[in-house]
Amino acid sequence: MDEKLVIDVARLDPEGEDFEGEVACVDLDESFVKAFGGVRYRLRAQAFGTELLVRGALEQDFDLVCSRCGRDFDDTVKVEDFTTSVEIGEKTTEVDLTNELRESIILALPTYPVCSETCPGVVLKTQELPDERWNVLEKLKEAKKQGE
Ligand SMILES: [Zn+2]
Repeated sequence: MDEKLVIDVARLDPEGEDFEGEVACVDLDESFVKAFGGVRYRLRAQAFGTELLVRGALEQDFDLVCSRCGRDFDDTVKVEDFTTSVEIGEKTTEVDLTNELRESIILALPTYPVCSETCPGVVLKTQELPDERWNVLEKLKEAKKQGE
């Protein structure tokens, strides 16, 4: 995996060139979102005069925490329509797109991740758990029965 995605503008094919690979630029390690693997990209770069146009798709795997039930789940965050243009001059030899990839993936992260559309959430989960207080009552009743 690469540390950076750098386009060699000086040697870029005038007809455009395809770039494919993986770059380790989004390394979030929050309690609710962990990245594993790097950003996988499939891009096409082409120079138009003083502009370098880069378009393509990005994706990265994450370990997220469901905002409804609190469980961990794996998800792939995808950016299908990544587009960026960078101004280039005669002296520009290379363009570093690492930050653009990073920002694009971070923007695509869900604000409220949900493990599944049908996730019942925390409410139902806590209802399933028996309330401790009822256990105490049950035990009292049982003890009373045994004592009789
Ligand atoms: Zn859930």
